[in-house]
Amino acid sequence: MTPNIKPLIAGNWKMHGAGGSLEVLKAAAEGFGEAAPAADGVICVPATLLDRASRVVEGTALQTGGQDCHAAEQGAHTGDVSAEMLADAGAAYVIVGHSERRADHGEGDATVAAKAKAAWRAGLTAIICIGETEAQRKAGETFTVLETQMAGSIPGGATASNTVIAYEPVWAIGTGLTPEISDIEAAHAHIRQHLKTQLGAEVADAMRLLYGGSVKPGNAESILSVDNVDGALIGGASLKAEDFLGIARAAG
Ligand code: PEP
Repeated sequence: MTPNIKPLIAGNWKMHGAGGSLEVLKAAAEGFGEAAPAADGVICVPATLLDRASRVVEGTALQTGGQDCHAAEQGAHTGDVSAEMLADAGAAYVIVGHSERRADHGEGDATVAAKAKAAWRAGLTAIICIGETEAQRKAGETFTVLETQMAGSIPGGATASNTVIAYEPVWAIGTGLTPEISDIEAAHAHIRQHLKTQLGAEVADAMRLLYGGSVKPGNAESILSVDNVDGALIGGASLKAEDFLGIARAAG
C-alpha cells in the first residue's frame, strides 16, 4: 500500500445477480465498516440492480457503482446507460475499460477515455482498467502496453479524487492465476512512474492504483501489502459476502 492513500476495495459482480443477490450485498455492506475501517468500499452491480442496491447500502460504509457507461449524457443509444443515469440510481463509481468490455465490445482507449470523462461529468469516480494479455506478457510487452493504455485511456484532467486506476492482467482475470508478487510490484511502480509524467507528480502520488485478477481472501494480504497497491478490484470473490469481507479485512 501507499502511505497516506486510503485504500479502495472494489467488487465487480459482472453479469451476475438478480433481486435475491441483494441479501449478499446487505451482508457485505453491514460488515464492511468493521472489516475495513480505514478503507473505502464499493460493489459495482449490474445496472438493473443499481437503484435497489444503492438503497440497500445506504447508511453503511459501502457504496455502489456501475460497470460501464456510455460517453453521451442521453440520446439514441438503445440499450446503453449513461453516467448520469448511474449517478441518478445512486452510484458513486463506474468501471470503464474493463478488459471484458475491451474484448467483447471492441472498446479502444479513445472510447474508454470518453467514458471516463462522462463519469466525471456525472460526478462519478472512474475506475479505469488497464492490463496486458498473456501473449503480450510473453512477448515482453507488458510495460509498453500499460503505457499506451494509460496515455490513451486516462484523459487530461484526471485527479486522485475523480479517477482510480485498476491494473488487471487479462490472463489473471477469473483464472485463479496471479502474477508473482515481484511482478505486481514492478507493474505498479511502473504505472505510478508513468502517471507522474502524464499527470504530474502531485496527482500521480495521490492516485489509487488497484490490483485486479483472482484476488481471494487467501492471497489478499500478500497482494495488498505490495508497495503502490492501494486496493483491489475483485470479480468472482465479490459474489460472496464472506469472501469480499475477507479481502477487505486485509486492507485494514
Ligand atoms: C474483474 O472482474 O475485474 C476481476 C478481477 O475478476 P476476478 O477477481 O474474478 O479475477
